[in-house]
Amino acid sequence: MADAGRDLRLEGVTKNFGDFVAVDDLTLTVPQGSFFALLGPSGCGKTTTLRMVAGLEDPTAGRVLIGDEDVTDLRPYKRPVNTVFQSYALFPHLTVFENVAFGLRRRGVSDYTEKTEKMIELVELAQYGSRKPSQLSGGQQQRVALARAMINEPGVLLLDEPLGALDLKLRRQMQIELKRIQTEIEITFVHVTHDQEEAMTMADTIAVMNHGVIEQLGAPGELYENPQTTFVANFLGQSNLIMTSVTGSSDGTVVVDCHGQKVGVDASRSHTTDGRGWLGVRPEKIFASEAGSEDHEGANVLTGGRVTDVSFVGVSTQYLVAMPWGQEVMVFEQNTGRRAPFRNGDEVDLAWSRGHAFLLDAGQDAHAGMINPEDPE
Ligand code: ATP
Repeated sequence: MADAGRDLRLEGVTKNFGDFVAVDDLTLTVPQGSFFALLGPSGCGKTTTLRMVAGLEDPTAGRVLIGDEDVTDLRPYKRPVNTVFQSYALFPHLTVFENVAFGLRRRGVSDYTEKTEKMIELVELAQYGSRKPSQLSGGQQQRVALARAMINEPGVLLLDEPLGALDLKLRRQMQIELKRIQTEIEITFVHVTHDQEEAMTMADTIAVMNHGVIEQLGAPGELYENPQTTFVANFLGQSNLIMTSVTGSSDGTVVVDCHGQKVGVDASRSHTTDGRGWLGVRPEKIFASEAGSEDHEGANVLTGGRVTDVSFVGVSTQYLVAMPWGQEVMVFEQNTGRRAPFRNGDEVDLAWSRGHAFLLDAGQDAHAGMINPEDPE
């Protein structure tokens, strides 16, 4: 990774639209050369944040810095920043080559031909240089837009839902492609998306935004495995959240009472202070077994479950298991074929490793961050 002298820093950045606070006192550092994702539901303030970095929106308060340079009051074109939008905004009358060369020619760079050819190669469009945008697929147009932005060697490249217009399969391909390009070129990428899978696939650091603030920031695996709020637990993947009360702790384990059954949580994953907590377990971390058939030595076990729904989804089977206190717990099991799937009505025990659970403050809404299946996004 390049030196840290050109980190992007936001210091206490706030944006109000009238009485509405779209971005609320945001402070964060995006290390130079990293792939950073701003992830959150529609309306959480991601695009507004990006636009303030680009200079397209003035912050109500706070500063934007690139390295030691305060760019808060600089015009957009004076900033070492380029933006790629969902609508690629290519010049329709120019060829791929001319589109990509545009920035260099405008600046009077003499060896633009060689640089442009290299960039077109990087985005794997070498055979398409003489085509017009209308003769390209959506994914190819997106790569031209990327090449056109990257050729200016911006310190920071802003990507605003850049893959939003592509169909799912192409989007997956482009995610891998974008990541490869970013690793090769070492430009800082700040990527805005509401798609958690997209953020997790590409970014080395994700900031999860909600209502104008960052709920949690970290590496994808860290956020997924050790969420600190119910919003993050539900927005990144799926979580079972069960109300418990803390009964004690020893040797780095917090013991909680889960409707009369005791289970342990690693202290490093325990984020509650008031004696109660949402016990969180991911559905794929739970191992379901026929009631009483295994001793699950050392693991957490909850007994008394009854299967109420079985959904076969190809790679896995997804169960709903009704627990004695009435809650239905989701369990995902890989279809390895090692045993026959459970059926409705089967009695099961649920087990998981202590290190795979987390404990969250009980004062929070257990439904925060859930993706509503009715929501088209
Ligand atoms: P999306 O994924 O839908 O683009 P977002 O997280 O990028 O959402 P923003 O576009 O940053 O959200 O908007 C944040 C909030 O600020 C929204 O509630 C939006 O309605 C509001 N907002 C954005 N721009 C303006 C504006 N120019 N005037 C008034 N309100 C605005």
